Amino acid sequence: MSWEDNVKRVVPYVPGEQPKSKVIKLNTNENPYPPSPKVREVLSNYDIDELRLYPDVNAGELGMALAKYYGLNSNQVFVGVGSDDVLAIAFMTFFNSDKEILFPDITYSFYDVWADLYKIPYRMVELNDDFRINIEDYLVPNGGIVIPNPNAPTGVEKDVRELEKIVAKNPDSVVIIDEAYVDFGATSMLPLINKYDNLLIVQTYSKSRSMAGARIGMAFGNEKLIKYMNDVKFSINSYTMNRLTVAAGTAALEDEEYFKETCDKVIATRERTKVRLRELGFDMPDSKSNFVFATHESIPASDIFNAAKSAGIYLRWWNKDRISNRLRISIGTDEEMDALFAFLKEYIEARG
Ligand code: PMP
Repeated sequence: MSWEDNVKRVVPYVPGEQPKSKVIKLNTNENPYPPSPKVREVLSNYDIDELRLYPDVNAGELGMALAKYYGLNSNQVFVGVGSDDVLAIAFMTFFNSDKEILFPDITYSFYDVWADLYKIPYRMVELNDDFRINIEDYLVPNGGIVIPNPNAPTGVEKDVRELEKIVAKNPDSVVIIDEAYVDFGATSMLPLINKYDNLLIVQTYSKSRSMAGARIGMAFGNEKLIKYMNDVKFSINSYTMNRLTVAAGTAALEDEEYFKETCDKVIATRERTKVRLRELGFDMPDSKSNFVFATHESIPASDIFNAAKSAGIYLRWWNKDRISNRLRISIGTDEEMDALFAFLKEYIEARG
């Protein structure tokens, strides 16, 4: 007998690499543009003496600013340290049934990690060959449902009227819609939280608001859902969000113009990327996010992944069933994407 017999053993989520050297980083769906200048201003003028005090629970000022921004009551808003934190708490709070929770087989690879950690039974529901969700697959007994919209790493958006059927026909399960990428041109289901008490919308500052390093995520839902999540959160650590981040996150919401401008730039570059990659022999589903999920007509994805890395361009590749011949390419600046296209053109020609 050893203490190791009592260790909770888990296989953790593997995040994309964060190289120390300067590379073209198209591997973790970060925004290539800096946060709003208002964030810089607030942090530069921050009164350091305030760090003496604990922050507000549930991110006080930030929770209220989010409620105002989205036209909600503050008791419909939950704030966490990135949407990973929000999702982890939501899984722990809502998925305690003996029945399986459901999520797509090709999706954000953290869902099965949390399910394993919390010992939640789960079933990964196969997407169609064109990476589409089949609504009927989710109209079966279940202990909860998680669907990202747009999905990751495919970028495919599901029509919200279709997703609404899943919410409406599963009144006894909490349905989490992970909208990490929704601001890049997809439609949010947020307005439906007033109609369905089992719908939880999760969003993040990491992508569209260029603040992955600040770690801000949020959930929107019926006040009962939010209360139950807060009860769990306050049973672990009530002060998760620090004062600096609260100030920065609040300031970012005050700059709608900058937000729209950067999202529009990413969208325009994404559309150009689709055209250029197709010219280079790639195929991909239509993406509504800040990445594309591409496969080449003749060269294996792993070869391109490794060659690009040697050339200082980081992409994401998973050696997993059904997607091992695909590359997830985050949308960078126009210059970064041009460097990628130039590399690919040369590499593909050299391979003949
Ligand atoms: N959901 C999805 C679908 C994601 O791709 C990511 C990014 N890895 C997250 C949630 C978590 O993002 P964050 O914790 O930075 O908000």
